[in-house]
Amino acid sequence: MAGNKLLPWLWLLLLTPVNATAEWYRQDAAIMGTAIAVDLWYEDEARGRALAQAVMDEMQRIDDLMSTYKPESELSRINARAADEAVPVSAELLALIQRALDFSRLTDGAFDITYASAGQYYDYRKGIQPNAEQLALALPAIDYHHVRIDPQGATLRFLHPGVRIDLGGIAKGYAVDRCIAILQAAGVKSAMVNAGGDTRVLGKHWKQPWMVGIRDPRNKEGLVTMIPLEDAAISTSGDYERYFEKGGVRFHHILNPRTGTSSAGVRSVSIIGADATTTDALSTSVFVMGVESGLKLVDSLPDIEAVIIDNQGKMFYSKGLDRLR
Ligand code: ADP
Ligand code: MG
Repeated sequence: MAGNKLLPWLWLLLLTPVNATAEWYRQDAAIMGTAIAVDLWYEDEARGRALAQAVMDEMQRIDDLMSTYKPESELSRINARAADEAVPVSAELLALIQRALDFSRLTDGAFDITYASAGQYYDYRKGIQPNAEQLALALPAIDYHHVRIDPQGATLRFLHPGVRIDLGGIAKGYAVDRCIAILQAAGVKSAMVNAGGDTRVLGKHWKQPWMVGIRDPRNKEGLVTMIPLEDAAISTSGDYERYFEKGGVRFHHILNPRTGTSSAGVRSVSIIGADATTTDALSTSVFVMGVESGLKLVDSLPDIEAVIIDNQGKMFYSKGLDRLR
């Protein structure tokens, strides 16, 4: 019968589908002082690998632009000159600084990129914190109102001589968003991009939501919970990422702008939302704000959720996460 003759051809077709190489591509790298990872599903091997590399290239580009560890970065050049004169700034950097200032207003100054006026004196690897004199001089310089963008939006100037800015609380989330945009534009439907504590996922993972763990702040190997995510971002800020201890005090990298010292009260804050720029900035902000006013802010924002672990290890959830309680 004709049908029987066709059958071998049919099998051949099924065995050699167009997307024979469709699979997951993963790449890891150390950029921005943290571990970067991308997982993506793509139909074509060469293109899948190229897209994973494009993510790493974008991370590197943003680090070269915004790192305060690189004296030649655009951000370092601003820090070196903006107290003396209005400095021309690229549209991209200016837009992110604008967003950072928006978060300062939203959080009543808990998020403040001028924290670096004092933050520049900490060296967590060497166990160094500012001395009393340095801190006293730095404190008046911590105030986001000192960052002035000209009305045309082309230059930036600091209104106080001691001001330094650092985008460490928002740049990784921004980089993750940029990478997700690159993947989306290339037609990727399923991916995860992770930069240290900042993660964003596209679509699902094997028809299931992606599962992102929240680390136990006092046990490197442990997770306190898993959060299912689909087309969403999650950022965690913790006091265990970069810190040293001296005389029973934990000096860590999230500073209260009002004191210039490490913010006490909570051990970790995870924020869930639509984009990683927002979740990154808010995880740092809520860490500084603490459980009560942090949850109040989160519950007032549409489509933002939070998991907070206080300094006793107790967990708190925003209203939308009541089911996890
Ligand atoms: P990470 O993912 O590096 O742990 P977080 O999102 O927890 O980053 O933010 C911590 C970083 O944010 C610090 O390393 C510092 O660069 C910056 N930062 C610290 N305190 C503040 C603050 N009050 N406002 C804005 N940024 C801050
Ligand atoms: Mg953050």
